[in-house]
Amino acid sequence: MLDALPPCALVALTGLLGLLVGSFLNVVIYRLPKMMEQQWAAEYAEFAELSGQVHKPAADTPATEKLSLTSPRSRCSSCGHLIAWYENIPLLSYVFLRGKCSVCGTPFGVRYPVTELITGLLFAFCAWRWGNTPTTLAWCGFSAALLALAVIDWDTTLLPDNITLPLLWAGLVFAALQFNPAVGLPDALWGVVAGYLSLWLVYWAFKLVTGKEGMGYGDFKLFAALGAWFGWSALVPIILMASLIGAVVGMAMKFSSGLREGGYVPFGPFLAGAGFTAMFFGPQAILRAVGL
Ligand SMILES: [Zn+2]
Repeated sequence: MLDALPPCALVALTGLLGLLVGSFLNVVIYRLPKMMEQQWAAEYAEFAELSGQVHKPAADTPATEKLSLTSPRSRCSSCGHLIAWYENIPLLSYVFLRGKCSVCGTPFGVRYPVTELITGLLFAFCAWRWGNTPTTLAWCGFSAALLALAVIDWDTTLLPDNITLPLLWAGLVFAALQFNPAVGLPDALWGVVAGYLSLWLVYWAFKLVTGKEGMGYGDFKLFAALGAWFGWSALVPIILMASLIGAVVGMAMKFSSGLREGGYVPFGPFLAGAGFTAMFFGPQAILRAVGL
């Protein structure tokens, strides 16, 4: 059926699919870190109870509602109004509701439609670049995962294993299926190994010298995943690009005095930005751009 579609229709349809996926990414970005916190709290409570440090909380302690990606349904965070399906259409609802809750008028924040729009554009790019092939779907999945990781890390300095590890495995499968002729399975496998080990070594060297932790284990996993998708030879261009983006953003934040509390800026969003650059232009184009 899709064979009969003209290329521009395929790009438009994939872009629309991207808007829907972007709407789901908003849920993932908002809820996944909270779900992780709930799980840690539950594990901690279980551990404390098992080791006899504390007693079970009193029965009248109000239980917090258990979050998942599908339940409970989305509500206005201010008045609790349940968001109806027609208030949840990507982009359109934001425009019709003028970015406000239909009941209490609290603004929803512009990042929801922006996330949807960016996902739609990324998906449209993949359809335009790889056409009517399974490769398009693979890169759409890559884009969605990378975008979610970038925003979650920026917000919370967490890179959830629930996204980094499937992204890594998917990259290996993608290479085994030979979707990308430039990256064979050995290239992808060594990309994972070298990606993880290189940042792990940097982490420990930095820690031994300064006594501080410069990044987290999530960064190693994300870099390893990028090694799976682009092959080991792309790791140097990707880390160069990530450092470049990091330097530019760091300077911009310094000038706008927007540096965060403690001055800590997560590295994941810059790795993700470098991953997108490699997807758009190919990893070797990064090296050419910096004259190497
Ligand atoms: Zn409301």
